Formats: sequence, C-alpha cells, structure tokens
Amino acid sequence: MGLVSAKEMLEKAVAGGYAVGHFNINNLEWTKAILTTAQELQSPVILGVSEGAAKYMCGYTTVAAMVKAMIEELGITVPVALHLDHGTYEGAKKAIAAGFSSIQFDGGHYAIEENLEKTAEFVAICKEKGLSLEAEVGSIGGEEDGVIGAGELADPQQCKTIADLGITMLAAGIGNIHGKYPANWKGLNFEVLEGIHKACSGKPLVLHGGTGIPADMVKKAISLGVAKVNVNTECQLAFAAATREYIEAGKDQAGKGFDPRKLLAPGYQAIKDTVKEKMELFGSIGKA
Ligand SMILES: [Zn+2]
Repeated sequence: MGLVSAKEMLEKAVAGGYAVGHFNINNLEWTKAILTTAQELQSPVILGVSEGAAKYMCGYTTVAAMVKAMIEELGITVPVALHLDHGTYEGAKKAIAAGFSSIQFDGGHYAIEENLEKTAEFVAICKEKGLSLEAEVGSIGGEEDGVIGAGELADPQQCKTIADLGITMLAAGIGNIHGKYPANWKGLNFEVLEGIHKACSGKPLVLHGGTGIPADMVKKAISLGVAKVNVNTECQLAFAAATREYIEAGKDQAGKGFDPRKLLAPGYQAIKDTVKEKMELFGSIGKA
C-alpha cells in the first residue's frame, strides 16, 4: 500500500475510541524504525515532517521518495500517512506538490479571519487531491522550529467555525506544549477539550506535544475526541540516551563498533521501543 490520507484512519479511531500516533521523522533510521514497528504491531501510523526536518532531509521530494520507496521495499501493508507538521502557507503548497498525503496548515498565529481564509484555500486543494488536512486554532506552547507559542487555550466557537470549513482534523491548544514540560505545568484543560469536542461534533482532534503528558491524561484526552497524538521529543530523547550509553560504554572503540550501522543500532531500537509504548497507550495496535 502506498501513502494514504489520514482521514479514514482517524475517523475509525474516533469511532473506536483510540488514537493514531503521529511520529516525527528526522532521517532514514527514524523512518525505518517507525514503519517497521507499525507493521509488526499492525497499527496505522502517521509520519510527521516539520519544515525544518524536511529541509534537513534535502527537501519534500526527497522525503516523499524515501518514504514511498521504504514502504515498498519493506513490504509495509498498514496504512501510512506522510504528514506535513506545522506547515506554513508556502511550505504546505510545496509538500502537496511533492506528494505528501496529509497536510497541517498551521494558521494558528494569524488573526482568526486570515486563518479561516487561508485554511479554506487548503480545504479546496486537499479535497481535490484526496489529502487530509489539519488546521490549528490558537498556538501550542513551547518552541518548534523557532516558532514559540504561548500555549493558549483555544476558543470552542472558533474551533467550530474552522472545523465547519471541511477540514479533516483540528489541533487546538488545551494547555499542551511542545518539548519537555516544565515542573510547574498545570496539565491539560479537559473542560476546554470537552467544549471543543462538543462544538466540533466528533471531528478528530489532534494533541500536539505528546511528550511528557502523563498516560492517564492522554487516555482521558482520547476519550474526549483526540484521535491523533503527536510524538516528537520523546523519540529524540530515547535515541540520544541509547546512543550516549553505547559511546560511554566505549563500544564505538571496540572492534568495528564505529560502523554507523552498529553505532546507530541502539538508538534505532530505542525509537522502536518508544513507538511501541505509545501505540499501546493510544490503543492503535491491531487497528490497521
Ligand atoms: Zn506540534
């Protein structure tokens, strides 16, 4: 199976009371670790690519070609969506042209009128091409690719207005932030989430900043309509810790331990373990 839109997998998730993991990719190892884990666990999966990561991996066409080829070469049969994470207006157009199957147009930092206008433009393009579209209301806190959000709480009425444009899924701030959570974090605001869930009448909701949100809060958010959970930092931390351990143990200096295929193996396995743990938590295993 080639790339698919995230629409069907997310609508199934809402109906089934689970969520699909969106895991950001950074290179070949990352992509292979996530795809093989999804296949082993028979879980649908969304590969997220930020604009910064796309640039790092030599552009959207390189990323799309790598992912499509890997799906074929590895015999991946579970549904896989290749999704632009926090796309700008220009970036979203480029990713669509390169063959991404899902787009986030992040207009959360525009005034609501401009956000609506630009989102509506992408609704038309994505409908025509059969792609899924994620919109954003309010900004998500923390820092991602140099964009710093204040972590505001989204207004349910604004969420309804943007959901009614015909988007596939909606990211709305409910106290979640990107990166590591500070010690004084107040937690997710379930009152706001419930309000958004009701106002948007079952539209799949997206939880950004999945790293470090306690498992019980994630489960509660899923019960309130969250169907896509974005995980990025957690895989990075797991990869870095496993690589550090390998080098600190001097394994890169023993035999051919310097071979990148050996050096990166523990980090690769750590990503797989993290993805598995998240898929268990989200309830997506066996839902392919
Ligand atoms: Zn995000």
